Amino acid sequence: MLDSGQKFVLRLLLLLGAGVLIGWLYGRAEIGLLLAALLGLVWQVRQLLTFERALRTGDFDAFRVGEGIWQQMFSRFHYAHERGSRYKSEYRRMLKEIRKSTNAMPDGAVIIDAENEIIVCNRAAKQLAGLKRKKDRGQRVDNLLRDPGVAKLLRANDPKQSTDIASPVKDGAWLNCRVVPYGASEKLLLLRDVTERMALNKMRRDFVANASHELRSPLTVLTGYLDTMADDEALLATWEQPLAQMQVQASRMAHIVSELLELSRLEGAGRATTEEIIDICDTLALSRKAFQGRPDTAAIEIECESKAQLRGKSREIESVIGNLLSNALRHTPAEGRVTLAWRSGPDGADLVVTDTGEGIAEEHIPRLTERFFRVDRGRARTDGGVGLGLAIVKHVLTRHDAELQISSDVGAGSEFRCHFPAARVVVDPPVPLAGGSQSA
Ligand code: ADP
Repeated sequence: MLDSGQKFVLRLLLLLGAGVLIGWLYGRAEIGLLLAALLGLVWQVRQLLTFERALRTGDFDAFRVGEGIWQQMFSRFHYAHERGSRYKSEYRRMLKEIRKSTNAMPDGAVIIDAENEIIVCNRAAKQLAGLKRKKDRGQRVDNLLRDPGVAKLLRANDPKQSTDIASPVKDGAWLNCRVVPYGASEKLLLLRDVTERMALNKMRRDFVANASHELRSPLTVLTGYLDTMADDEALLATWEQPLAQMQVQASRMAHIVSELLELSRLEGAGRATTEEIIDICDTLALSRKAFQGRPDTAAIEIECESKAQLRGKSREIESVIGNLLSNALRHTPAEGRVTLAWRSGPDGADLVVTDTGEGIAEEHIPRLTERFFRVDRGRARTDGGVGLGLAIVKHVLTRHDAELQISSDVGAGSEFRCHFPAARVVVDPPVPLAGGSQSA
């Protein structure tokens, strides 16, 4: 059985053969060959033109019947064309379904490209953040959702990170934003309404603040009486120890209350202002002075490798250093070493507290900044630990656009690194003038 290509060649040869034969009968075989070739050419050109017209107009009736290589070509083309149309309508249907389902989602979804320009967004993105599918296509999403947290998320491109922002269109509403990378360079920005969670958080914060505030006055009265009683010469010897214990516990409670109040204040406060400029090396030296010389404490070293200064709240930065230093000393034996370091570079500055103490097991590290988290609860009660110090450190750092990075090896020591962005760092501090005042 011959295929259509072979049949085509055979027919052409037969035509040319017939031309030669007829020409030969008339004594001019070459003319017969030429005429036969011309005939074949004309027929092929006609078929070609018909096929071109069919492609142009979509009317393939001329090829529905008949045979030959042109009919074969039509069938194949027609089959591919039909299949393409089928796929196209299938894709269209699927796209419609996807759009319908993303529009039904309660969360906002915004597809953005590598330049953070909006490709498409769903209906919830409009309701929650005012983003419009057609109007905002091609706009930079960080220009429409103007928040440093969103800009940071887009730069990080890490689905584990998220940030809460106030909704630009709904008063009092809060959105949790998360960026999920996909494809070659596209990203999906997810927006979730977390107004209820934020309201609950506020209620919790207010409750803790109010309760702590209310506890402060009775505690002051109690400690006052306890101190008076302890100073009383006529106090019975049997009461001395219980009274001392009561004093320790009362001051521990006062410490917890003041730390809870400080946490509530930090949670409610926004970003720390940048007007105040802090000399970190001086602050490190003062902190060392406050802790050094206590019995059974490790040596404290200072590595001040940068003259850069920091923009922020000095009282809060002092509390960060104080908390980290007191932790390091409590968890490092007297023969160990605690180092306070300050370094700066093009991407900001690092305040690092390192110790050669007991270290922290890996599984505990992500939980260290939780309120009341202590690795060893029993021991913490005796060494004065409350479990609020690192929570305060984290809140202060967040307020200063900084991050806390913790690394540790059990038995070898720990490193608590506070990384401040370049915008918070004054690289060339003004040179102090003679007489104590500073140049502008
Ligand atoms: P605490 O008041 O108990 O020190 P923190 O929030 O400051 O509370 O610390 C939480 C827990 O982290 C501590 O109870 C301790 O187990 C652990 N920790 C903190 N700093 C260190 C350190 N430098 N070395 C070992 N463990 C530490």
